[in-house]
Amino acid sequence: MDAAHVDSDLVNVLFTEAQIHEKVGELAARIEKDYEGQDLLIVGILRGAVMVMADMARAFTRHVEMDWMAVSSYGSGTKSSGVVRILKDLDTDISGRHVVIVDEIIDTGLTLSWLTSNLTSRSPASVEICTLLRKPEALQMPVDVKYVGWDIPNEFVVGYGLDFRERYRNLRDIGTLAPHVYS
Ligand code: IMP
Ligand code: MG
Repeated sequence: MDAAHVDSDLVNVLFTEAQIHEKVGELAARIEKDYEGQDLLIVGILRGAVMVMADMARAFTRHVEMDWMAVSSYGSGTKSSGVVRILKDLDTDISGRHVVIVDEIIDTGLTLSWLTSNLTSRSPASVEICTLLRKPEALQMPVDVKYVGWDIPNEFVVGYGLDFRERYRNLRDIGTLAPHVYS
């Protein structure tokens, strides 16, 4: 669905499907260049990163391996709990591998800072982070992010994998959720 289908639930559309497509292509091109001649594993963080992973992988003009992790850091609301738990671990042994973690948004940074040190402890050749969105004002933990699509204000956004109570993930655009939906 697109923004018109959930018009009254959104304050505004931050990024359209076309803008997202272009940005993901740019990120893929940068990563492809940086890892030229090296084997690459991209790790998507379920469930939010499904759309970015699918579009990014297809934007590459080279081979790339994909694996997934599921972690919980949020309840069903709009605030981070700070507690990270692995719900699904990697199927891949990443020792000696070049890894790029792909996520759709960095909010407090708690999830990715925890995840980066977890993956680093498995002796990979390298670990970098790619995120489509980042909320700099919400950051509570320093996270070294190499690839960022856009920095956005500290507001709750939905679409393109981002949910509120498991809804709006299939929205093709990214928009700011209207407070009446969650308050
Ligand atoms: P953290 O606060 O950086 O640990 O963010 C962890 C996760 O919370 C993200 O990967 C998203 O799945 C979710 N999240 C954070 N901000 C938003 C938002 O604005 N909309 C939807 N999900 C969000
Ligand atoms: Mg996520």
